[in-house]
Amino acid sequence: MLCLGVCLGSMAQDASYPANYARAPRFKALLYYSDTAEEAHVQFANQAIDFFTRLTYGDGWILETTTDLDTRSYENLQQYSVIIAINAAPSTAEGRAAFEKYMENGGGWLGFHAAAYNDANTHWPWLNKFLGCGTFYCNNWPPQCVLLELDTTDSDITRNIPSSFVAPESEWYQWNPSPRSNSDVEILASISPKNYPLGIKDIIRHGDFPVAWRNKNYRMVYLNYGHGDREFTDATQNLLTLQAFRYVVSRDPKGNPFEK
Ligand code: ZN
Repeated sequence: MLCLGVCLGSMAQDASYPANYARAPRFKALLYYSDTAEEAHVQFANQAIDFFTRLTYGDGWILETTTDLDTRSYENLQQYSVIIAINAAPSTAEGRAAFEKYMENGGGWLGFHAAAYNDANTHWPWLNKFLGCGTFYCNNWPPQCVLLELDTTDSDITRNIPSSFVAPESEWYQWNPSPRSNSDVEILASISPKNYPLGIKDIIRHGDFPVAWRNKNYRMVYLNYGHGDREFTDATQNLLTLQAFRYVVSRDPKGNPFEK
């Protein structure tokens, strides 16, 4: 241990050592979650915090967490390369306005599961424009593993991921209309029709079922999984999560932080 400490210490003092390029925070991220949501959504939030906290790029990024996006101004949000939205969305007019302005001006968003939930009571048309889909339509119950199929392998988000894989158990949402009907949306992955009928109590029997996509008009990726404590148990799905995160951050209009 002594030798290791001495060696690292001398490296830190050598400015020419190549690894020094990563010795400063390259970007900031804000992980926004709800600690008052249903238990399975809080479980996912706690595991997501653990997952992203362990993630390192050299010494290079700062992760902040919050359960309150409603009191954040646009000026405050501008410091973050990405908002990681874990089963939560702003609910007040002020919070929504700040988030809209952030996204309309190059902000980044990686959203999971209920972060996109909206129905007739949400009264936030911009959210649908942003997501590129309609309102929540239905879900399977109980949470289940599903066979996912990639819609494209020609994307930095899906590169190196098998064309189909079994995702960990989750509650899966369908939307009406589907994001696939929106020409501004690139669908990345969908639930295979081979899964039908999907569910036991609440059964989905048919329909187009995209579960990962991006709206080309924004710096965003939506991933539909995010329910329960099994979501980070699969290396392939974790790779999809990481590549989606990296995709959003790397397109920061202030410059690609990974190239600093
Ligand atoms: Zn859920």
